[in-house]
Amino acid sequence: MLTTRLPGRVEPYKLAARAEHLEGLMALDAFARLTEAVGQQHGDVEVWLDFSVDPQGRREIHGRLRATLQLPCRRCLRPMAQDVESQFLLGMVTSDALAAELPSTHEPVLVEDEQLNLLTVVEDELILSLPQVVYHDEADCAVSRDQLTSGEDAVASSEPAASPFDVLRHLKGKS
Ligand SMILES: [Zn+2]
Repeated sequence: MLTTRLPGRVEPYKLAARAEHLEGLMALDAFARLTEAVGQQHGDVEVWLDFSVDPQGRREIHGRLRATLQLPCRRCLRPMAQDVESQFLLGMVTSDALAAELPSTHEPVLVEDEQLNLLTVVEDELILSLPQVVYHDEADCAVSRDQLTSGEDAVASSEPAASPFDVLRHLKGKS
């Protein structure tokens, strides 16, 4: 269980030279782009980072993260808890031109003035780890529940109101 907070910025060359390990938490509500993409978040993301220099002299970061996010259900649009986890390998570069020289195994991260914006790095990885779509189980989904109990179309649903069963009922009632 992690309890320490990670800094928003680090000096990655020094950390790589000393082969340092960093681990800690970052608040999910600090990630504006994530919030914009999937809605308001609470709680923390757990992050583990190993800084190193590989045999070619490349400065890299082996990382892992884990978080429980609130993602909108594709059917009813209400948030549902979803665990995400990801592992990544980052290569430090000082320009976009150098990023092109990295092997495809490494994702480039930009180091400016010997500083790495850890907030941006972790947010990027979180966004990459998002599942394409999430759905509640049918029993838990507001759309399914509303349709079962009232027969009315749910607010968020764009599907036609009449189900085949409604149509059948109408036909039977008329005959
Ligand atoms: Zn739902």
